Amino acid sequence: MDKKFETNAIRTQLERTKNLEHSVPLYLTSSFVFEDAEDMRASFAEEKDRNIYSRYSNPNSSEFIEKVCHMEGAEAGFAFASGMSAVFSTFAALLDSGDHIVSSRSVFGSTHSLFTKFFPKWNIEHSYFKVDEIERIEKLIRPETKILYAETPTNPGVDVLDIQALGDIAKKHNLIFIVDNCFASPYLQQPIQFGADLVIHSGTKLMDGQGRVLAGITVGSHELIDKVYRFSRITGPALSPFNAWVLSKSLETLAVRVDRHCENALKLAEYLEGHENVNWVKYPFLKSHPKYEVAKKQMKAGGCVVAFEVKGGLASGQKFFNAIKLLSLSANLGDTRSIVTHPASTTHSKLTVEERAETGITDGMVRVSVGLEHIDDIISDVGQALG
Ligand SMILES: *Cc1c(COP(=O)(O)O)cnc(C)c1O
Repeated sequence: MDKKFETNAIRTQLERTKNLEHSVPLYLTSSFVFEDAEDMRASFAEEKDRNIYSRYSNPNSSEFIEKVCHMEGAEAGFAFASGMSAVFSTFAALLDSGDHIVSSRSVFGSTHSLFTKFFPKWNIEHSYFKVDEIERIEKLIRPETKILYAETPTNPGVDVLDIQALGDIAKKHNLIFIVDNCFASPYLQQPIQFGADLVIHSGTKLMDGQGRVLAGITVGSHELIDKVYRFSRITGPALSPFNAWVLSKSLETLAVRVDRHCENALKLAEYLEGHENVNWVKYPFLKSHPKYEVAKKQMKAGGCVVAFEVKGGLASGQKFFNAIKLLSLSANLGDTRSIVTHPASTTHSKLTVEERAETGITDGMVRVSVGLEHIDDIISDVGQALG
């Protein structure tokens, strides 16, 4: 019987041991034992599908992967120690020296650094398109282009890219289309349905949802994941069993948490839209969002992140930031605790004004990851800081 998202999130779990535990235990073990020489030979020859060593696989990681595969409609996956190790290992497993990447400019800061500072060492080049110029993508594709890469919604500008449109371009040019789906979580958006070949998540954000562990995961077809697995079992970026155990439990409540995140975020966005000290607000499910229709088509709700611009530029942005009392000044997102960031003076302060503009960041822009506190208290804190 085909079960629903919430049911799979809860009921996909490892078989009980003879102790008949109800909640899956933690398998804190680096290696696994064999019956005899033949068992060990066959296991190493991969004639048997079983655990050998936790750098390759571990029961807790397998449970986490299986849950995410159900959620994303994927065949297979590999779990990583962080979102960035998932991003790096996925690219490194699939690319050869001389290959080329076409990517949205609005990618996570460390992904941008990977493209610009490290990949050139291995003769891997990239070309960027801006989120509002999808029609330029085909002009950027070269014979050696292998991967099309995007995030949506984007960080921190909360722009939305049309996944189906990108998927069609990737298919036409025989590119591997990879989507970083971290901002939406698999509950709100399943990119494979719109043509993505691989989906990457930072499990650190909405998946854990409580700001405790770092994690990452890549899911997709057996064929592509096998390449990612071959590379990763040698290079060793595997997720720890403890963090995998935490995440498997977190996913059981993903749907209810994300529903409330989105409800609170929409309410805050609507409040900000009417505020006299705010120039603009961006949230995928606000009708004023330039890609509202695309967001409605591919997302179940708008996500937990709201971006807006305080009137008065850099100084007002910082002043707002300093006046915040309840919300946390931090860089994480997707936590139960609401978090505010002022990208121009913090995460993106090393970029020039023009470089910031390319990723949709202005001096007075503030990003709020709306948490699960009561919405009245969230609005009250943001309101007093804006005053
Ligand atoms: C946080 C984040 C990452 C990196 O994840 P880590 O777990 O911090 O390594 C990658 N992509 C996006 C969109 C993110 O928000």
